Amino acid sequence: MVRVIKTHIFAFLVLLLLFSVSYAKPHAIYQYSPLNSLMSGVYDGGKTIAELYKYGNFGMGTINGLDGELVIVKGQAYQIRSDGQVVKLNGNTNVPFAQVCFFTPQKSFVISGGVTLETAKTLIDSKLKSKNIFYAINIKGQFEYVKARSVPKQFKPFVPCLEVVKKQSVFELVTTEGQVIGFRCPEYIKEINSPGYHFHYLNNDMRSGGHVLNLRIVSAEVSIDAINEYDVEFPQDNIFLQQDLSGTLQYKP
Ligand SMILES: [Zn+2]
Repeated sequence: MVRVIKTHIFAFLVLLLLFSVSYAKPHAIYQYSPLNSLMSGVYDGGKTIAELYKYGNFGMGTINGLDGELVIVKGQAYQIRSDGQVVKLNGNTNVPFAQVCFFTPQKSFVISGGVTLETAKTLIDSKLKSKNIFYAINIKGQFEYVKARSVPKQFKPFVPCLEVVKKQSVFELVTTEGQVIGFRCPEYIKEINSPGYHFHYLNNDMRSGGHVLNLRIVSAEVSIDAINEYDVEFPQDNIFLQQDLSGTLQYKP
C-alpha cells in the first residue's frame, strides 16, 4: 500500500515537472495580445506578471492602465513610471500587452566608440541571418547617453495611445551603465507587433529607464537570440473582444 502511494506521488511529481517545464521553450516569443489592441486604447488586460514568467524571463510591455514601461530582466519585472521612478513589480500585477522569451543568445559582439542608436541598429542588422524571423536582443554596457520615455497612467474612458504619447515624460541619462532589452520583428507582422526594433532600457542601479528614443554607446556587448517560434495569446475579456481592431496600426512604439 505504501509502495502504491509512493508510486502515485512519484508519477504526480513527474507530471508536475513535465507540465511546469513545458512552457520553457528556447528561441520562442510569447506575446500577450496584438499590439494594435493596445494602440487602440485597450489598456486593461487579464494576464499577470506571474503568468508571463511561465513563458519568459526577459521581455517588455506595459502595465494595466498604460501605467509606464515594463521591463523583465532575469525573471524580475520592473515598471518605469512616468515620474521616472522604477518599481519592482510583484506577480499579481496585470498587463494589457507584453512579449517575453527565455533569452538564449546564440551570438554576441561588442559595439564601442560613441555609436548611435541608428548605427547600432545597422550593425545588428548586418549580423542577422534573415529579416524574416524575430530576434530578442540585449545590449549591456556603458552608455554615453540614453534618451528614454514613459507614459502616464490612464483612466477611463481610455483614449488611443497616439494621444497618450503626446503627454509622455522624457528622461535623458548621461554616462550611465545598464542594459537594453528588446526585440526585432519582421515587416510582415504589422498590426500584431511593431516591425523593426523596439527597445526598453534599465539602468544597472534599477533606478531609471524607459522606452528607448535614442542612445549613444560607449562600449556594450550585444547578444542576439534568433527566434524560431512566435506565440500570440488573445485576451478573452469583453473589452478586447468588443474592440474595433479593423483599423491599421498608426503609431510605431
Ligand atoms: Zn516600448
